[in-house]
Amino acid sequence: MKELAHRRERSANVVSSSFFNRLELLWNLMRMNEKLLKRYLFASDFDQTLSFNDSGAILAELLGIPKEEFERRSNGMAKLNLVQQGAELAYFLLHDPEFHDRVRKEHLFEAGKLVPLKKDIDLLYSLLGNGIDGYHFDFYVLSAAPVEIVKSALAGIVPADHIFGTEFEYDSNGRIQSIKRATAGYGKVVRLEQLQEALNIGPDHLIYAGDGSSDMHAMLHVNDGDGLTIAVSQSRKVTAVAQRTVLSNNALAMLVPIFEKVLKWDQPQIRDFFERNGFLVQEWEKVRTDWLTLSPAETGLTHRAGA
Ligand SMILES: [Mg+2]
Repeated sequence: MKELAHRRERSANVVSSSFFNRLELLWNLMRMNEKLLKRYLFASDFDQTLSFNDSGAILAELLGIPKEEFERRSNGMAKLNLVQQGAELAYFLLHDPEFHDRVRKEHLFEAGKLVPLKKDIDLLYSLLGNGIDGYHFDFYVLSAAPVEIVKSALAGIVPADHIFGTEFEYDSNGRIQSIKRATAGYGKVVRLEQLQEALNIGPDHLIYAGDGSSDMHAMLHVNDGDGLTIAVSQSRKVTAVAQRTVLSNNALAMLVPIFEKVLKWDQPQIRDFFERNGFLVQEWEKVRTDWLTLSPAETGLTHRAGA
């Protein structure tokens, strides 16, 4: 009898504990859903957005080609408009014997290790993921550079499956045979659309950061969908299209326009966030830049004014 009562009590305990477990699970799911309600896609360029130097120039230097010579060739190639902007290196790797005959897969990984990165990209990744209450930003890198270079540079900082770059087919000796896909120019828009669909993110929840002409298509696409575009250089082509420009040697600075435009925070709130995460905002200069070129007026107008 005593044994039966004990069993009943035990079974009641099991029922009540499983009931509370389910309740807790439901509560956690509700909280997770609440958090994931405000989900955004943050896509960033790599060369000179997350890094300081162009990875193509670094690879060229590894091969003994001076940076200036690489830039001369690259600019000449860009002027031809033969390939998408930013895909010049991919073209050289396929067709220029100085690159094609000498570069193997391991050289791309080696070049990646030499790329000087902006500070705190790892912290940017984790803060965007789960450091901002009520928001989740999926951080992806879209680069025209060979994917091996970008993955090698960001190893241990950004997960490899969050990095998209130009992909090649290799032969058994690690020599480049053909191009699979280039994430340059309009290629970035195509990748963005695929990510949006895969993550089920609306066009107004899209954020794109970049520094150069290879980012123009992506920025126009994001602007068109009411997303947020951030320029991280003073290149006129990009600042004319991007909604915000932010210049810093620290990748975390890209959070500022996100806080202002998406979270609608003011300066004290933003400073407070940085302080809570161990940073002091030492200098914060806000400058509105107007680019003007003035030329002398036609003489007819001067005559009328003097008449
Ligand atoms: Mg770039």
